[in-house]
Amino acid sequence: MADTLNLNNSRFAEEVERLSGTPVRACFQCHKCSTGCPIGPDMDLLSSQIMRLIQLGEEAEVLGSRGIWLCASCEACTTRCPMGIDIAAVMDTLRMMAIERKVAIPDAHGEKFNRSFLGSVRRHGRVFEVGMMTAYKLRTCDFFADVDKVPQMLAKRKLSLLPNRSGAGKEVRQVFRRAEEEEKKR
Ligand code: SF4
Ligand code: SF4
Repeated sequence: MADTLNLNNSRFAEEVERLSGTPVRACFQCHKCSTGCPIGPDMDLLSSQIMRLIQLGEEAEVLGSRGIWLCASCEACTTRCPMGIDIAAVMDTLRMMAIERKVAIPDAHGEKFNRSFLGSVRRHGRVFEVGMMTAYKLRTCDFFADVDKVPQMLAKRKLSLLPNRSGAGKEVRQVFRRAEEEEKKR
């Protein structure tokens, strides 16, 4: 009964639904999203737990979660949800809300990785891994983690030393500009 009242009254749930465009309150806790999440074992809160906490209006716990920053936006959860909830979009929304509300980020490296990733997409129209990792390492001052993997990745042609620009670079930059304009209106 208490949950029903909370579900109906959670302003936080309404806000997440409005910003993500997906019906979080339709979640009935089947856990299909969590069982398919490749990052699940490392998350403090699984995606299904995050959905439930949103329904209950537990904003501080959700926005302060490390899990929302570990989410890789792979959309495995979204494709598995029987209720058609776009969980990956919810995770994006929660990260955005955490930044806007200046919530202390439990894994500050996650936020720095996000910024480095988006900066690379904006500049090149798609991610340029070497440039993104350089920006990330400069932001975190963590210069030596994973450097041992670089020669192998270069040998297997998994990394390119020069950016491979997207033909849609102009459109991608427009998307970023539009997103910034929308953000200013809020
Ligand atoms: S989008 Fe995020 S939460 Fe969903 S399955 Fe992928 S990593 Fe997990
Ligand atoms: S798969 Fe959908 S309905 Fe099931 S727990 Fe996850 S969000 Fe809720």
